[in-house]
Amino acid sequence: MNLDDQLELPSYLHHTPEVEERLAAVKSRRVVLSIRNLRREYETANGSLVALSGISHAVHTRELTCVIGPSGCGKSTLIRILAGLERPTSGAVLVDGEPVRGPGADRGMVFQNYTLFPWLTVKRNVMFGLKMKGVQPVRAEASARKWLEMVGLTQFADSYPAELSGGMKQRVAIARALANQPRILLMDEPFGALDAQTRCSMQAHLLRIWENVDVTIVFITHDLEEAIYLADRIVVLGANPGRILEVIDVPLARPRHPAQFLSGHFLATKKRLETLIYSSETSETSNGSKIPGEAA
Ligand code: ADP
Repeated sequence: MNLDDQLELPSYLHHTPEVEERLAAVKSRRVVLSIRNLRREYETANGSLVALSGISHAVHTRELTCVIGPSGCGKSTLIRILAGLERPTSGAVLVDGEPVRGPGADRGMVFQNYTLFPWLTVKRNVMFGLKMKGVQPVRAEASARKWLEMVGLTQFADSYPAELSGGMKQRVAIARALANQPRILLMDEPFGALDAQTRCSMQAHLLRIWENVDVTIVFITHDLEEAIYLADRIVVLGANPGRILEVIDVPLARPRHPAQFLSGHFLATKKRLETLIYSSETSETSNGSKIPGEAA
């Protein structure tokens, strides 16, 4: 018996006036990140492999965008291109209208694997980028303290990474990225290595931080519920080649809370994501098209 037989779900395309108004406000803000017709090919022993094709999308200021898709659809390739760690074969990425030509302070990164320096204390890890930029030690320390307070780790400022749990390490990584005041925070499956409970509390943490900080977030995940809970919009990628299947406006009000996981709008969105992702390898969809026979 499928979900439809048990529950009468609303359409994931139906928005309450409150959600409609919020999404309209998000989309009326300036575009901070413009992704234009990206294509990425890799030369492999078996010939050319198209990892990404025809990827175009605009992210607005202070928008929280999740990118989701099956393994191998090009999520990591996309975020590496956005970070400037990799060049597209063709197409362009612009931040505030300026083409991305490499890594830059306007983009902060948080990766799945803990990337803290084990020989530095938590505070010194957060200060690291600031000191590299030439910020005076006193100011860098004050800034580190502010960001550690923001992620709730003030009392661990003098601890070493090895003394922290996985969730705490990721909070330090978020503080370190935000201390550099990036325009965009790029997060590549940042909670993927955490247990389910820690993951839930980190999602709530991230939303609280984001509500208080002027930053735009692009968040890669393969967890459907995580994407719905966090995002304003979800970019759904399909594989072979990696392409955009659909961009979903999340029909949930903010602030988000865990009770929304059981709402009809949440479940309807999850069902749509499941349909898109699990059918994408077998369906002949093109950029932005709907899967045939799949009602909205
Ligand atoms: P995802 O993060 O969604 O799992 P990736 O971006 O890692 O997907 O990979 C997308 C596709 O590109 C996959 O088929 C992968 O094998 C291929 N790919 C990624 N990086 C390379 C590389 N450096 N050389 C060759 N193929 C690659």
